[in-house]
Amino acid sequence: MNEKPSISNLAAIDAAHHIHPFSDMAELNARGTRIIERAEGLFITDSTGKKYLDAFAGLWCVNVGYGRKSIAEAAYRQMQELPYYNAFFGTTTPPATLLAQKVASHAGPNLNRVFFTNSGSEATDTWFRMARVYWKALGKPQKTQVIARKNGYHGSTVAGASLGGMKLMHEQGNLPIDGIHHINQPYWYAEGEHLSPAEFGLKIARELETKIDELGEDRVAAFVAEPIQGAGGVIIPPDTYWPEIARICKARNILLVVDEVICGFGRLGEWFGHQHYGVEPDLAPIAKGLSSGYLPIGGVLVSDRVAEVMMNEVGEFYHGFTYSGHPVAAAAALENIRIIEEEGLVERVRDDIGPYFAAAWKSLESHEVVGEAQSVGLMGGLQLAADKATRRRYEKPDDIGTLVRNHCLENGLILRATGDRMLASPALTISRSEVDQVIETLSKALDHLREKGL
Ligand code: PLP
Repeated sequence: MNEKPSISNLAAIDAAHHIHPFSDMAELNARGTRIIERAEGLFITDSTGKKYLDAFAGLWCVNVGYGRKSIAEAAYRQMQELPYYNAFFGTTTPPATLLAQKVASHAGPNLNRVFFTNSGSEATDTWFRMARVYWKALGKPQKTQVIARKNGYHGSTVAGASLGGMKLMHEQGNLPIDGIHHINQPYWYAEGEHLSPAEFGLKIARELETKIDELGEDRVAAFVAEPIQGAGGVIIPPDTYWPEIARICKARNILLVVDEVICGFGRLGEWFGHQHYGVEPDLAPIAKGLSSGYLPIGGVLVSDRVAEVMMNEVGEFYHGFTYSGHPVAAAAALENIRIIEEEGLVERVRDDIGPYFAAAWKSLESHEVVGEAQSVGLMGGLQLAADKATRRRYEKPDDIGTLVRNHCLENGLILRATGDRMLASPALTISRSEVDQVIETLSKALDHLREKGL
């Protein structure tokens, strides 16, 4: 067996050989990599032995918490029985089939089929092609344009980064690709001006209709959005937003794609975000909470409307991944969902820990530097403000968010900062005392801003 390298060696090896996603390489080489070695429950431990409360569930994904032996055992059993077989050419494996059935059983009534991928980004590429194939099969090959939102996030592949509305991502790699259009996001705090949230929600939703008119209804294939924008800063839309979006998609005959990669599997206190907002998607990419991140797996929930055309008009969809429906990942995902069901985690988020978290998170609004603290289920977004009364924002939002995040980190709490918004998305198993710990540490980090005169 290879000897384990020492920590300093590992850091040097990492600097020499490992290119990290979304990390500044020069800064990383100067500072050194944080090496995470172990985790249990809500806590992760780094190579120096320091423990952190991970209030971000890894990357919004470890919904059942760390250290679930039964998931490891399910993967081990499956690996011994059948480590791999594919789902191409009309073949399947028991875990892939049972997982498709299980996922469909929890989604809206018209979502009865799943196409498996390995990630959320691949799920995005999958629905993007499927939407165009769908319209072509219906004799409308010109219906190819897709409308998405500024500041949305749908992954890092070429289609994913194009559909996302992140300017910095577009600047790298000549994106977006043709045929993708972005409308405004329902970010009332920053962009709502004098309108009430309800008025603003309607106004922004109606930009979809304006964009459809501009492009021509017979050219638009689909509209995509996250139920709550995650990476964009946990932007929670006003209540008027989603019903109006769903109405427009229906009236104008374009597919509604709800990106459930973060919101799926209990985060909002329902199995899926579309159920929380009472809308019925035609296609819905999933990943993350599907396996709680124990193994990579994603997919697209496909509505009966789309599936029937794919079956009756298209026949073969020339699309797939070697590991679509990987049996070991599917076995891990099945065990993950069994845990969510058995422990009633979705109901727990809706009726118990979600409301507790909401009250605690909201209490931060009494702090001078907090403009707004909103949450749904276990997804929280906190807006930092230079002046609460006028909703004036800090001049350098990234610096402010980073200061708060780093203070939390030094004090053993992992949260994320997107510009001047602090984001929380803990495991669905978080206890009340752990919620208290999140609030206490974050509160001290907010005090720290004031102590620095910011
Ligand atoms: N869609 C949403 C809403 C996401 O938040 C993400 C990742 O954070 C993705 C898609 C891409 O998923 P992945 O990183 O698994 O490719």
